[in-house]
Amino acid sequence: MALQIMRDACTACGDCEPLCPTGSIAPAKGVYRIDTATCTECEGDFDLPQCLDACLQDDCIVPA
Ligand code: SF4
Ligand code: SF4
Repeated sequence: MALQIMRDACTACGDCEPLCPTGSIAPAKGVYRIDTATCTECEGDFDLPQCLDACLQDDCIVPA
C-alpha cells in the first residue's frame, strides 16, 4: 500500500516532505515524489496519511 503524487497537480510547495514518518517524499524533476517502495500510508505511525492531510491541492496525492 502506497500513495503517489500526481505531478500535474503538485505545486512543489514542499509542505508534505517533512511530515512523512518514513522519509518517502523528496523533490524530483521540479515537483515532489513519493517512493512507493517505502510509503506505508502512515500505518503504525498516524491515523491518517500525513501528506494527504497536509496537501491543499485536489487529487494531487492518490493511491499508487
Ligand atoms: S503538499 Fe501537495 S502540492 Fe505540496 S509538495 Fe506535497 S504533494 Fe506537492
Ligand atoms: S502516506 Fe505517509 S508514509 Fe506515505 S508518503 Fe505520505 S506521509 Fe509518507
